[in-house]
Amino acid sequence: MESKLYIVSTPIGNLKDITIRAVETLQQVDFIACEDTRVSSILLNHYEIKKELISLNAVNENSKIKFILERICGGESCALISDAGTPGISDPGVRLISAAIKERIEVSPVPGVTAAITALSMSGLPSDSFVFEGFLPQKKGRQKMLARLSEEERTIIIYESTYRIEKLIKELVEYMPERLIVVCRELTKKFEEVWRGTPRQILDSLNNKITKGEFVVVISPKDWKERD
Ligand code: SAM
Repeated sequence: MESKLYIVSTPIGNLKDITIRAVETLQQVDFIACEDTRVSSILLNHYEIKKELISLNAVNENSKIKFILERICGGESCALISDAGTPGISDPGVRLISAAIKERIEVSPVPGVTAAITALSMSGLPSDSFVFEGFLPQKKGRQKMLARLSEEERTIIIYESTYRIEKLIKELVEYMPERLIVVCRELTKKFEEVWRGTPRQILDSLNNKITKGEFVVVISPKDWKERD
């Protein structure tokens, strides 16, 4: 393998949602950089890949990035994976990628699934033009952001965690009551569920039965109407 940083997409739930090239890359690189070694080991064990794993997290990031880049400069190849989906999309991988680019290390994609596009593709909402907001700010700036998004004329994609999904839907009742929203939970996993409706309809149908898991919320553009 050429000494590069390979950005390798892994599944967002279903372990079969990985490309043949991704598996081959993980088999062939010298070592793998990941977020949580326990999460990545489940995938690697499933595909019987035994490889050195280096975990990158907020605490050790600076020293680990330096270590990884030195090894690639020394001729080794590295695959970057994240806990789910495509590295660098709303996850910490982006800092290693930009540091590698700064060092003029070649960065090569091995693309695959990402939760945002998976949700958009089955939302039934316009996808020719959309805005991906990732996670909204938790506190400061959140209301301002929601007010701005209430004027958005493109489809909006938001990531949300178990802890704030109910709060988000309540905020959408307030800021975007007329929009059609598609709430996708645990996509590709055993307890996959999708709710479609106005924020109020979804809040009522959930009726406090919420809900553990990972969520993507897709929101229709302002003034968009579903055709009959
Ligand atoms: N890099 C990932 C990607 O390509 O989608 C995203 C990482 S981000 C830290 C994790 C968030 O992605 C979760 O909080 C959730 O909003 C979303 N997500 C990941 N897997 C998901 C799934 N199976 N179903 C719904 N949302 C998911």
